[in-house]
Amino acid sequence: MNFYYNRTKIVATMGPASAKKDVLLAMIRAGLNVCRLNFSHGKPEDHKKVIDIIREINEEYKTNVSILADLQGPKIRIGLVKDGGIHLVNGTQINITTHECIGDDNKIYITYETFPQDVQANEIILLDDGKIQMRVIETNRLDTVVCEVIHGGILTSRKGVNLPNTKVSIPSLTPEDLDNLQFALKYDVDWIGLSFVRTGQDIIDLKHIINESGKTARVIAKVEKPEAIDNIDEIIAATDGVMIARGDLGVEMPLEEVPLLQKMIARKCRDASKPVIVATQMLESMITTPRPTRAEVNDVANSVLDGADAVMLSGETSVGEFPVIVIETMAKIVRNVEDLGYPYNLSKTTNPDKSAPDYLSDNLCGSAVYLAEHTDAVGIVSMTVSGYTAFEISSYRPKAGIYIFTSNRQLLNSLSLVWGVRAFYYDHLESTDKTISDVNETLKTENLIKVGDVVINTAAVPIVKQGKTNMLRVSVIE
Ligand code: PEP
Repeated sequence: MNFYYNRTKIVATMGPASAKKDVLLAMIRAGLNVCRLNFSHGKPEDHKKVIDIIREINEEYKTNVSILADLQGPKIRIGLVKDGGIHLVNGTQINITTHECIGDDNKIYITYETFPQDVQANEIILLDDGKIQMRVIETNRLDTVVCEVIHGGILTSRKGVNLPNTKVSIPSLTPEDLDNLQFALKYDVDWIGLSFVRTGQDIIDLKHIINESGKTARVIAKVEKPEAIDNIDEIIAATDGVMIARGDLGVEMPLEEVPLLQKMIARKCRDASKPVIVATQMLESMITTPRPTRAEVNDVANSVLDGADAVMLSGETSVGEFPVIVIETMAKIVRNVEDLGYPYNLSKTTNPDKSAPDYLSDNLCGSAVYLAEHTDAVGIVSMTVSGYTAFEISSYRPKAGIYIFTSNRQLLNSLSLVWGVRAFYYDHLESTDKTISDVNETLKTENLIKVGDVVINTAAVPIVKQGKTNMLRVSVIE
């Protein structure tokens, strides 16, 4: 069975539209690499069903589809409102209360207990993705905040609340997140996304829980708050990957700033060799139509050019009418950029500290990419247990294919998020010569390389120690 392989990976959010084996298999064949389980929606049993289908497909078709469990984080919502919707009129006042009630024209409930203590007069409150805007007039610092409606409209139940100016005191991992995290760890997901990250410490705390549980899931910091932008360097240093969550970011920050923030974050992530996902509204119109808008096509293409490791779909694949066509469309857009206009073999700002523990391996990976470029090598073939070499080589965006061999089964799937990487299982560690000959042979059998091709092999010598990558070899395939 043929599967399509992009260099820039595709993440799709699972939901009723995609949680069926035949649909998911068709999506994977079309180029889907990572399935996102959105814990803001769906019950644990729904997520478990999807996990089982993905695992079945991986087993049956020898694919390495990765699973990203996305925790809701301190998302704030309003409660239920009467008659399914209330009309908020410009210039009128409304109370926001921390006592649970059915909202009406006078009051609405907010799921944020210390809101009256945290908020200040004149701060802005945005509801329903910023469609409704209010301003704080006063707070009694106990249970009620009086607001003026600036831009009104119809407000329906359980809509999201964004507080771009307020220092929110809710912890980064809520009790619900902690339950969902245990669920995700129990089923060994590859990546865990945390929403509304504010500091590097938020990520360190999450990683601590993962380590304590003896699991190896990697962490994605969802950047969607002004505080995360202020602390972007410490967040990138602490995390394993980043999601530019443009949905909430575009509500919490001025919308016009998002395009340049995207470029800034993507650049910093590539410099740090951490994968970066560009998310939200990429092909939004395809929720209901089988063809995207021209602007959406441009957005996907430009995100690839900005250096994304992966581009993400949300409603398009979770509830949309055309989950398979969406993946085909996204893969075609990505492929066209990669075939015709992608700037491969990029330079990057590396750590100049010669005493840094990875200084030598980093330089070796950079040299592998340089060597591949100058010998027209078709592949860079590496062995890794930790994955370090794969992340590092990928960050240079080599034109040569990146083929990673590992004895670490979970890494096989985790690497599906990383730009350009294709991973294979290999666990015979006899000698460097034998290993290089074996892995090159595997690639030949898979028709990824052929006789006469040049490939660059990297390895750790002596191979049995499985230490840091310290060797480069130019091989001509026989
Ligand atoms: C976003 O805000 O862009 C995002 C991806 O987060 P979520 O879908 O969880 O709201």
